[in-house]
Amino acid sequence: MMRGLKDKVIIVTGAAQGIGRAIALRLHEEGANVVVADRNKSGAEKVALEITSQGGNALAVGLDVAERDEWKGALLEVVNRFHRIDGLVNNAGVTRDSTLLKMSDEDWDLVIDVNLRGAWLGCQLTVPYLKNNGGSIVNLSSESRWGAFGQSNYAAAKSGLVGFTRTVAIEHARHGIRANAVAPGSTNTPMLEAVPEGVRQSWIPNIPLGREADPKEIAAAAVFLLSEDASYITGQIIGVNGGSSL
Ligand code: NAD
Repeated sequence: MMRGLKDKVIIVTGAAQGIGRAIALRLHEEGANVVVADRNKSGAEKVALEITSQGGNALAVGLDVAERDEWKGALLEVVNRFHRIDGLVNNAGVTRDSTLLKMSDEDWDLVIDVNLRGAWLGCQLTVPYLKNNGGSIVNLSSESRWGAFGQSNYAAAKSGLVGFTRTVAIEHARHGIRANAVAPGSTNTPMLEAVPEGVRQSWIPNIPLGREADPKEIAAAAVFLLSEDASYITGQIIGVNGGSSL
């Protein structure tokens, strides 16, 4: 077991599937109360049911992370139910890949709004609650933050999260709040289903461990950063990528 997660209240955005779902389930295993937040409310409800049917505490909330008013409503629901907030995982993310010259305004704006603005809103509105409890924030960056073909929007958002995460860590260390990011490499989730199988296979030779990540392997790093075992870690970006950045 990781230290200090029992009975803590942790919000995970984009938790209806993929990495967010794996983080929610692992947090439950560690004894936390989990807020399963997603714009896909019925998907969030399914994950919450997986947790409650195992005797855990979970609350499903519908939330579009790019919308300030939706955050306000979601946080009221969380506080009504659990009376505190101890952690936040800004995991909701989308891709809309195309090369620079073909990219539409809509695809640029959506990717920046969900991945970057969503994490900013989440931190701005949740930090006042975390201030009372210490607390820990984990943002989901990506290996693509270094730049990736067809991903000028996504690379900008995910590298933007690096500076953002480090700044939150600097500003709120005095309140006992830690902020870190996990930067996954290729991970086997529904997000990657948009990528043709041949392209996915072509990435494998560049991964020293020779395979994509399982979502549970990303969740392990995120949950570690939320836990007391990471009590002296803040402002860090942890690559979980099978060595692909080497
Ligand atoms: P996914 O597409 O499988 O799941 C993303 C979830 O986010 C979905 O449940 C979706 O409904 C939700 N979501 C999307 N937009 C939302 C919004 N506006 N508000 C609330 N919820 C929203 O993705 P995943 O692979 O599990 O990715 C999770 C995170 O990890 C993302 O931030 C992604 O960018 C990042 N990441 C993924 C990979 C990968 O290879 N899968 C690699 C690096 C980083």
